[in-house]
Order: sequence, then C-alpha cells, then structure tokens
Amino acid sequence: MAVVVMKFGGTSVANVERIRNVARHVKREVDGGNKVAVVVSAMAGATNQLVAWCKEAAELHDAREYDAVVATGEQVTAGLLAIVLQSMGLNARSWTGWQVPIKTSAAHGSARILDIPGDDLRARIDSGEIAVITGFQGIEADSERIATLGRGGSDTSAVAVAIAVNADVCDIYTDVDGVYTSDPRIVPKARRLPKIAYEEMLEMASLGSKVLQTRSVELGMVYKVRTRVLSSFAAPSAMKPFNVFDIEDIGTIVCDEDEIVEQQVVSGIAYAKDEAKVTLLKVDDKPGVAARIFGPLAEANINVDMIVQNITPDGRQTDMTFTVQAAELARALDVLKKAKKDIGHFDVKSSADVVKVSVIGVGMRSHAGVAAKMFETLSEKGINIHAISTSEIKISVLIDAAYAELAVRSLHSAYGLDSD
Ligand code: ADP
Ligand code: ASP
Ligand code: MG
Repeated sequence: MAVVVMKFGGTSVANVERIRNVARHVKREVDGGNKVAVVVSAMAGATNQLVAWCKEAAELHDAREYDAVVATGEQVTAGLLAIVLQSMGLNARSWTGWQVPIKTSAAHGSARILDIPGDDLRARIDSGEIAVITGFQGIEADSERIATLGRGGSDTSAVAVAIAVNADVCDIYTDVDGVYTSDPRIVPKARRLPKIAYEEMLEMASLGSKVLQTRSVELGMVYKVRTRVLSSFAAPSAMKPFNVFDIEDIGTIVCDEDEIVEQQVVSGIAYAKDEAKVTLLKVDDKPGVAARIFGPLAEANINVDMIVQNITPDGRQTDMTFTVQAAELARALDVLKKAKKDIGHFDVKSSADVVKVSVIGVGMRSHAGVAAKMFETLSEKGINIHAISTSEIKISVLIDAAYAELAVRSLHSAYGLDSD
C-alpha cells in the first residue's frame, strides 16, 4: 500500500466526460489499495478566460482581486471530480487552498507555498477518504487572502501536497505520456525519456518546456519527491496501481542523476518564445556603465537574462545587448529612459520577435564540443545568433522567432535525439 498524489492538468479535466475518465484513474489506485490525494487544474481554457476578464475589467488591477477571480477555475473541477467519485461509490471530498490550508507568500499572482500542515490531511487519507484539492491556489499566511501560484502552478501544488502528506509518489497526469527530448508538438521525432534528472528537468522547465512548472521541479529536487509524468488519456484499466516495489516502465520518472544508467550528453532541446531583446547602441565604454544600466532594471524587479557587450577597438563606445521577459519590455524601456541621465548617451533598439533555444544535458559537464556542434548546426541552416548564455549543463542562444522550429528540429537531429 502506498500514498499517491495524482495531479490532473487542464486538458485532462476539460469536460465532465474527461473528469469521469480521471475518476477511473483514481478508482484504479483506490481499488489497488493505495491512499490517494488528487490535485486538479481548472478546465482547459478556463484560467485564460478568467485572466482575460480581469484585464477587460481594468488593465491595471489589484493583484489580490485577480487572485480571487482566477482561483475559481480550480474550485469547479475539484467539486465536480468529488461528485463523480462519490457517484462511483467512493469516499471523496473537495478542498480549496484555504481549507487545507496551503499557506503562501504575499506575492499575489506568483506566490510561493510556505507551508502545508499535512497531519490532518494525512489522517483523512489514511482513513480512506480521497482528498480532492484545488491546484494553483493557497491562502496568504498573514492577510488570509486567496493567492495563486503563477501559471502552471498546479504542478507545484501537487508536489507540495506530496511533501506535506509524505507521499510515496507524485504522479503528474497530462496530455502527453511523459517528458520528451523536445516538445512533441514541435518535434514529431521527439522521444519519451524514461527518466530525467531533476537538474535537467529544472533547466528544461525554466527554459520553456512547460510540461512541469519550474517551481515544482525545484521543490521535488530539494525534498526528493519521486515525480512521474504520465498520460491521463491512457486507458485507466491499462495501467497498474502504483506499487513501490514494481514501478511500471511508463511515463517519465524525474529522479536523481545517479539513478540514470545510460546518460546522454544532451537530453533535451527547449525553446522559449516569451523573450525580448534590447540593444543599447553607442554607450560610453567606461567603468560603472553596466551598473548604471542594470541597477535600475534590478530595482524595478525586471529580470535580465542574456547579456552581450561588444568589444570596442577604440575603447570609447560600446553596444550592449540583453534580454528581458517580453511582458516586461515596455517597462524595461521606460526604466532605461528614466535612467538615461545617469547612463549617458545611447540609442536603443528592441524586438520581441526573438526566441531562446537551449540544449540541456548533465553529460555536458564531462564532454567538450557541445557548443561547437550547436553553432555549426545553426550556421548550416543560415540562422544568425544574437546572444549566447551557458551554464554547466545548458547552452542557450537567442535567434529570430521565424527560425524557432527549424532550429529546434535541426538541433534535435544533430545531437542524435530523433526517434527511428
Ligand atoms: P497540463 O494542462 O496537464 O498542465 P501543460 O500544457 O501545462 O499540461 O503541459 C503539457 C504540454 O507540455 C504538452 O502538451 C507539450 O506540448 C508541452 N511540452 C513542452 N515541452 C515538452 C517536453 N519536453 N516533453 C513533453 N511535453 C512538452
Ligand atoms: N489553471 C492554472 C493555469 O492554467 C494552473 C494550472 O493549470 O496548473 O495556469
Ligand atoms: Mg501545466
């Protein structure tokens, strides 16, 4: 017998028929003797609609009220799933974030989970009740206002619940049957990875593979939560109930690096479309200029990612290129304009028509030539690189958005990741 947390994403609960299918997955686990907590997302498209309504009501709105609105999507699916489970003769009840309570920070719209007192929940699960918990939401610890965890946040709710009840596994059911070497919607030849290291998954998620929210992987890594990514569309009866001693070879297990026997040099290719490029031309090349550019951006809470500074033969003026989130571009330009008196002269160019493509793999630590292969492959396709950034286990390049798919597919082939 195991304690299992099962999370179902938006497409998996898109209508009542699909919720019925989800209930069959839950029933399989209960019938197999497992104790279950379920975490649900809002129906596909529901959160987008709620966000759009907030914007329509007022472009600039109170983040606490935004949270009150967007958190409602998950309450609908939690209630509906509990109803369906009860109609199948199972003992289930729904829980909203504040009822659990899932306590969060005050960063409304992208709050972090601070604590989930799990004893009561665990006692109920142990007594055989299925807890159906709303993902994506919690309650701000001091003000007791509803807070949401940022888009895709139900993954994080699920991992946090798994930690709180000390679950044996956190199963993330979605519309693909695992984590692939690249987004299967873009790369038809992508392959399912039976296992992926936490660190690689963390890079994949933060570099654009939205199959898991970045924060959920961080939490999983710190607390060593055995996390699996599975398809909710697989027939519920075709899968076996979770068994700690006999884990089926389905989906993807996110685990420690040393659990992976055949480690590839490159495990995956990710892309992110939400980047924007800013270039400051003819900036004075003297000490302190970078601080005067990036200081005000940091103060305004604008994250800068890639930075390139050109060398200047005469040592007088330089060009500085960097990237910010596309949604922050207008604000970044405004901050720079206000800081101009300190920075000195510059001309500015910007574009949101760029995409960041990244190759990721823990094997890069011990292999040379990964970057060279990336640059060669892109050059063969005539794709120009605007900026580069690297870490121990990833290389990212910024290119024109028009070449995103070509770049991802070509790199996927070049690193030998294509399926046969
Ligand atoms: P859910 O609604 O279940 O949370 P998401 O849409 O958030 O589902 O995440 C699943 C999607 O992630 C898939 O449909 C797929 O297009 C996308 N995705 C991006 N990169 C990858 C990858 N490397 N492996 C699998 N899926 C990926
Ligand atoms: N419903 C939320 C969203 O669409 C949270 C989630 O699905 O994970 O972002
Ligand atoms: Mg998701």
